[in-house]
Formats: sequence, C-alpha cells, structure tokens
Amino acid sequence: MGETEDERTSQAGQLFENFVQATTCKGTLQAFSILCRQLELNLSDHRGFYSSLKAAITYWKAKGLWGKLDKRASHKEYSKGKACTDTRCLIIGGGPCGFRTAIELALLGAKVVVIEKRDTFSRNNVLHLWPYTIHDLRNLGAKKFYGKFCAGSIDHISIRQLQLMLLKIALIVGVEVHVNVEFVKLLEPPEGQDTDGPGWRAEVRPADHQISDYEFDVIIGADGRRSTLDGFKRKEFRGKLAIAITANFVNRNTTAEAKVEEISGVAFIFNQKFFLELKEETGIDLENIVYYKDNTHYFVMTAKKQSLLDKGVIINDYIETERLLASDNVNQEALLSYAREAADFGTNYQLPSLDYAINHYSQSDVAMFDFTCMYASENAALVREKNGHQMLVALVGDSLLEPFWPMGTGCARGFLAAFDTAWMIKGWAQGKQPLDLLSERESIYRLLPQTTAENISKNFEQYTIDPATRYPNLNSTCVRPHQVRHLYINGEQG
Ligand code: FAD
Repeated sequence: MGETEDERTSQAGQLFENFVQATTCKGTLQAFSILCRQLELNLSDHRGFYSSLKAAITYWKAKGLWGKLDKRASHKEYSKGKACTDTRCLIIGGGPCGFRTAIELALLGAKVVVIEKRDTFSRNNVLHLWPYTIHDLRNLGAKKFYGKFCAGSIDHISIRQLQLMLLKIALIVGVEVHVNVEFVKLLEPPEGQDTDGPGWRAEVRPADHQISDYEFDVIIGADGRRSTLDGFKRKEFRGKLAIAITANFVNRNTTAEAKVEEISGVAFIFNQKFFLELKEETGIDLENIVYYKDNTHYFVMTAKKQSLLDKGVIINDYIETERLLASDNVNQEALLSYAREAADFGTNYQLPSLDYAINHYSQSDVAMFDFTCMYASENAALVREKNGHQMLVALVGDSLLEPFWPMGTGCARGFLAAFDTAWMIKGWAQGKQPLDLLSERESIYRLLPQTTAENISKNFEQYTIDPATRYPNLNSTCVRPHQVRHLYINGEQG
C-alpha cells in the first residue's frame, strides 16, 4: 500500500525540521541534501528552487517562514526574481557577509555560488547587532532557525549561530554552497576566442573541484580581513596602540548566571570610576570592556600595554606590535588569568565559575588581537575586461572595511555593504555603463565608514537594496565617472 497524502506531508515536514534544527555546518548541508533527494527537488533550477521547496513543505510550522521570505521576495527591486536572471555570481567566503550578500543576489534571480574553505562554524565570539540588523534578520525568519534570537532586549548573536542561520536561508533561496573549497585566483578567459568563447573562471583548491569549470560574470570577496582578490589597494588607519582581548567562558545557563547583567560597550566606555577601581584592585588597566551572555559568556576588552607587561602577559616590550604580540612573546597562562580576572571584576564576581570554553583548536578560548592598524579597501568594486568578457569584482564585509570589535560595527556595516553590492549587481545586469556603475558604487561606499546606528534611516520596514531607502544623506553622484577610470581594467591594454 502506498503512502497517504498526510504521511507524505508529515515526512517532508520532518525532513525540513531536521534541516532547520541542524546545529553544525556539515549537519545542515547533510540534512539539506537528504531533504532535496527525498523530495526530488531540482537543485540546478536555482530560480525555481524556493517555489518547489515551498510547494513540497506544506506543514504548518514552515508557513510562517514562507510568509516572511515571500514578503522579502516581493520587494519591487527584485523584479519578481527576474532582475539578474543571466548573472552568475561567485562569492568567496561563507562568513555572515558572504551569505547575506548571497541571499540578496538569489532573490534578484542570479545564479549564486558560495565557496567556503572550512567546513565548520566554530567562532564563539559574539557580534553586536544594530536595530536594523535585528529587524532584517527577523524578517528573514531568524527566530525559526534560532528560537532565542534577540529575545527581549538582547542585541547580539554568536558569529557561528549567525553563519548557521544565514547558510540555511541561503540554501532555501537556491544558493549553491560548497565547503572545503578555497579560492586561489581568478582565471582570465582564454585568448583567441570571441565573446561566445569561455569566460572568467576561478582557480580553487582542490583543483579538480567542479567549481573550476564554472564561468562567472561577478565575483565577490567576502573572505574576511585579508581578502585574496587582486586589484584592491588597502588604506591603513593607524591609531594609538590598541590591543583587544576576547575571552569565552562556559555558560551553564543556571539561574545565577542568568541574573548577571551584561556590559554594553558603548555606554560603558564613559564609566571612568569602574576602570580606576579595576586598576587599583587588580592592576588590570582597560580602555573598555563588553560582556554579552550568549551560548558562552563572551568578553571583549581593550587592554593597555603597560598593564599587560606588568601582569606578565606580554613578556618583552617591543615597538612593533607584530613582535610585541607574537605568540612567543605572550605568556598564555598569564593571558588566561588576566582575562578571567577582568571578567570576574567586570561582572562584580557574580558569575559562579569562569571556566574557559574550548575553541576550534581544542584550547581555552582566549585571544589577543592588534587593532592599532585598521584597514579599509580604497575602492569597493572594479571591472575587468579580457578577451571580450567583462567581470565585475566587488568586496563586502571585513574585506571591504575592517571593524573595531569592541565597537561592534562589523556585521552592521557589513550587511549595508552587502545590500549596496546587490544594488550595483542589479545595475550591472540591467546593462548600466561600467563607469556609471562604479562611480555610483564608490559614492555610496564613501558613506559607509561614517555610518552609525544613529545616523541611518530609522524606517527599517522600508529598507531594500536601494541605498536611498537606508542612507538619509545619500548623494550617489559625488564620485564622477572620470574619477573611476582606473577601476575599469582592460586586460588587452595591459
Ligand atoms: P568573516 O566572518 O571573517 O568570514 C570570512 C569567511 O571566508 C570565513 O569563513 C573564512 O573561512 C572564509 N575564507 C577566507 N579565505 C577564503 C578563501 N580563500 N576561499 C574560501 N573561503 C575563504 N567581530 C566582533 O565584532 N567581535 C569579535 O569578537 C570578533 N571576533 C572575531 C574573531 C575572529 C577569529 C575573526 C576572524 C573575526 C572576528 N570578528 C569579530 C569579526 C567578525 O567576525 C566579522 O566582522 C563578521 O563575521 C563579518 O565578517 P565577514 O563575513 O566579512 O568575514
């Protein structure tokens, strides 16, 4: 006897639930592959994928999610998913900004491929979310994937939870994701062929991966602070010495832990009395400290060099920060004690036990980073032309503009750049002239480093990929086409 309609609905619902509830990157991809196989969904039909999935999963729990995604997909900017139908995009990096960009491009109807060199999401560290990012993620169904998402007044999320939920949404909207694939370099279209010949491709590791046969019209560097994409000059912002320490402690979710108040960085920076008392009592000298309660108890603090030397965390004093913070000049045990003592004092000794969480390397999750030099790319995009084929190249996220973690700007500015990039790609697909497109992108990019939670538009419901819906003081022609000629790189001339 065959299955009844009800049994089929319930089985499909269970498979979808396994996918929604998966807690790791590998587990998600596996649950997704089982789901697609069992329901005979055609993964190669990237534009029709979401509709087919929706038609196959009719159980009640998924309805809320479909409602949210349908609402997002109905933005007029996407032209019913037909704005970028012939555009093939490669995104390097499955961090939050890579996936957030991928989702937008898929909604525009593009063929989107994300490659990620790792197959685990292991960063415990916690990202501060601006009100608009919370709104944005809620509208993508964040709560369906992570029930605790920004409950009450919580305005943060661990990097890995964010990656995980965005991976799931990207898969649902038809993005092709490959893990354990590392981008090496762009490969030019072969010479002596006309415009119908093969176009731009990517060299990846492993070299025989199917991706190396794909051709692309757009490539996006979302591979973190050290982007592998050629052609972008980096601007350096050298400030005074800034050494940040991140520390994650096990959260056992006890009542005592629940009672301890978080420390929101921005407000706390001005609390001089706290820092003086901390120094007097412990010898620890900080410029700021942030504490978020998430899957772990997460702390990020900026420490003054002298106190790190005095407490034996840094062994020898060197002028160059690289040498100063080199692993052979850091006493790991002293660093563990330093961060624990600061966390203990900062929470008024109320956290019952400060046991370090374990990181990706199976070690206590504490790390020290240099923020003395911050980098930003000089430009947000460029166009390459070779043997009759054009390729639009863009950066998003930390590759574009490096964030200062204690201020928590990374993901918020990163998502804005993801939307701005999607807007540019829509223009590209519509045949806008490259110099007009690049000058508009650069004009918008100039706003990004000054953008704060306070000065962007407060009408979050109106936000779309159109920059005019988000930046109140937008002047998208402040950079003129003749100023971006160097960003149109014609290989034939070079
Ligand atoms: P990332 O999140 O860095 O993602 C880049 C992705 O690209 C990674 O998954 C990487 O594996 C992949 N990748 C890199 N090279 C390649 C390649 N060649 N091919 C394929 N894939 C590649 N921000 C805070 O606000 N607070 C913090 O405490 C904090 N801690 C951090 C700790 C670490 C170790 C790192 C790396 C970043 C941290 N950040 C922190 C920054 C924060 O994670 C980012 O601002 C945020 O995740 C958005 O970044 P992104 O998506 O642009 O890049």
